[in-house]
Amino acid sequence: ARRKLIAGNWKMNGSLAALAELRAIADAAQDAGGVDVAIAVPATLIAPAVAMAPGLAIGAQDVHAAPRGAHTGCVSVDLIAEAGARFSIVGHSERRADNHETDAEVKAKAEALRAGGLRAILCIGETLAQRDAGDAEAVVLRQLTGSLPVGTASDWLAIAYEPVWAIGTGRTPTVGDVTAMHGAIRGHLHALIGAEAVAVRLLYGGSVTGDNAAELLGAGNVDGALVGGASLTAAKFVPIIAAAV
Ligand code: 13P
Repeated sequence: ARRKLIAGNWKMNGSLAALAELRAIADAAQDAGGVDVAIAVPATLIAPAVAMAPGLAIGAQDVHAAPRGAHTGCVSVDLIAEAGARFSIVGHSERRADNHETDAEVKAKAEALRAGGLRAILCIGETLAQRDAGDAEAVVLRQLTGSLPVGTASDWLAIAYEPVWAIGTGRTPTVGDVTAMHGAIRGHLHALIGAEAVAVRLLYGGSVTGDNAAELLGAGNVDGALVGGASLTAAKFVPIIAAAV
């Protein structure tokens, strides 16, 4: 059986003071047998977050695919690893939209993480216009084909399905819709990589809260959650971890 993974994404939020929340989150993670817990913080907070909660898997929200060089403002896999990161998110829809990241770039970032010994959470998801046009599944599977790294395996890669219209909106797909999409992702993954597809964790993300986590985590082929707003405080995040136990 696939271990559940509850991952937080602080996005451009938090502060040194806010890292105190990680203590209680780390305690809850330790108590949650059978569940993996991870938090992706802003790059400047990786090292202090690791110092604050050494047992918790701390990661980045993005990374450059190149090992070094003239890429002003970017951070490499080695830089985040040196800061103590164990993983990075890649291909988040906010980066695909704000920074025009392509599937090929997202794929290269994931492959750089693997080469550096780190894990990746690869995000895919359709916009509301694409869903309304009936294209949701085609869009998501096309993103999966285009951004899935060479060497995909469950020990270093998880996939997060995050419908763009569900992010930060308080709207979520129905359990039936999530089950259908995750089933389609699983099936397509099997076509792409074969038997290993059965072991790769598929997370759902978009307006996950303590109130809806149990229902969403109970949907078919949902192996965890990628949580934005509700990961910022222990009070909101710990119930989501509890729902996964
Ligand atoms: P929210 O949980 O705030 O909707 O954000 C989801 C998300 O984008 C996580 O990566």
